[in-house]
Amino acid sequence: MKLIRFGEPGREEPGVILEDGRRVDASGQFHDYDEGFFALGGMEALQAWVDDGCPDGEPIPPGARLGPPVERPPKIVCVGKNYLEHAKEFDEEIPTEPVLFMKANSAWSGPYDEVVRPRGSRKLDYEVELAVVIGRTTRDVAERDALSHVAGYSVFCDYSERAFQKEMGGQWVKGKSSDGFAPMGPWLTPASQVPDPQGLRLWCKVNGEMRQNGWTGDMMHPVAFLISYISRFMSLLPGDVIATGTPAGVGGGMKPPRFLDPGDCVECGVEGLGELKQRIVGT
Ligand code: ZN
Repeated sequence: MKLIRFGEPGREEPGVILEDGRRVDASGQFHDYDEGFFALGGMEALQAWVDDGCPDGEPIPPGARLGPPVERPPKIVCVGKNYLEHAKEFDEEIPTEPVLFMKANSAWSGPYDEVVRPRGSRKLDYEVELAVVIGRTTRDVAERDALSHVAGYSVFCDYSERAFQKEMGGQWVKGKSSDGFAPMGPWLTPASQVPDPQGLRLWCKVNGEMRQNGWTGDMMHPVAFLISYISRFMSLLPGDVIATGTPAGVGGGMKPPRFLDPGDCVECGVEGLGELKQRIVGT
């Protein structure tokens, strides 16, 4: 079972993909995959409904748009420079503590939605990442218990405007938060199906050319540590998303840099978790 949401932006309904590939509408049984769903045992209830054969579940229309597989998260916490080779790309200092920053949740978008290059943008960049969706309220959790707080995993692209991020003062949030800069999907894979989040290949292609080709085992701070660490500073809520950092190969790290232009096609994947595909368009 994988979780999907389908329908027009902002009006998505919950559904599932079954083991045999069938896509079933779950909206008769479940309101949405949101904070309340995760907080109130929704994952277990959904699995029980699927195990029952999805009673009263209608097929999802074949052409339906897929939205992000969970409702717009309460917050999106991102980890910067979590892969050593990526941290070296920018000729900046290598951090010793995890670098945390926030991305506005209004950037939330679906796995195949277009990305609008914002007005004034000259340095639009891609970052494939393993996304973690939190399953229950998490405060100051021990590293050894942290993975039991995960609802599931998905593919994320941390779109970034490097000039907004680094050349306009203040925090990175400006370069990370434009509409469409936080696509996740195409589905949410329950944590029970991902025994080791540090054993996954992840990649990003631009116009078919492999730009990033990494392995989550190369994270300097693994997922369990990150959850524990972040939860020292803030409560993680059910449905919150953690973007766990990107491997080497981003456009801004190339010499000379290679940024995204309207017309470019970006594909991001994580082994076993699916692939995102976005076209870049102008304003
Ligand atoms: Zn990132």
